[in-house]
Amino acid sequence: MEVVADQGQKFWEKPLSELNNDEWEKLCDGCGRCCLKKVVDEESEAINYTRVVCKYFLEESSSCQCYKDRSELVPDCLNVKTMDLAATNWMPSTCAYRLRFDNQPLFDWHPLIAGSREQMDEQGISIKGRAVSEEYVHPEGLDEHIIQWVES
Ligand code: SF4
Ligand code: SF4
Repeated sequence: MEVVADQGQKFWEKPLSELNNDEWEKLCDGCGRCCLKKVVDEESEAINYTRVVCKYFLEESSSCQCYKDRSELVPDCLNVKTMDLAATNWMPSTCAYRLRFDNQPLFDWHPLIAGSREQMDEQGISIKGRAVSEEYVHPEGLDEHIIQWVES
């Protein structure tokens, strides 16, 4: 009789509702795409991403400099934990939370699967080296920075 090793279910394969806090945080790939400023087309209501990133995003570590206080410091900061993912498309299509909410597997480049951030950097998933801080852009000039490499 063939013995098949049960390697167990990885936590990122479980439903979002079954993740503990630590697993929830680890699911984030740190791409930074959700920290990019967006503009909504008035006619089509389509969400357009810009290359302008929140001033609290730290590119070197792909992390938020004010994570615990982000809701107070940045009122339009997206909180995927409280967001109704079924009713909105404010998160990028590659977002691990959105994928798992839709019961889709993570991409192979996700650090949890690939083992490092190398692939997601190489494939341009992370915003590393491609964004400009909001500190250098006038809020009314966001339209000039619309990009095509992130979609909602
Ligand atoms: S888009 Fe999703 S996976 Fe990427 S940094 Fe934001 S929350 Fe994390
Ligand atoms: S405050 Fe929000 S939008 Fe700004 S870097 Fe932190 S998580 Fe991203």
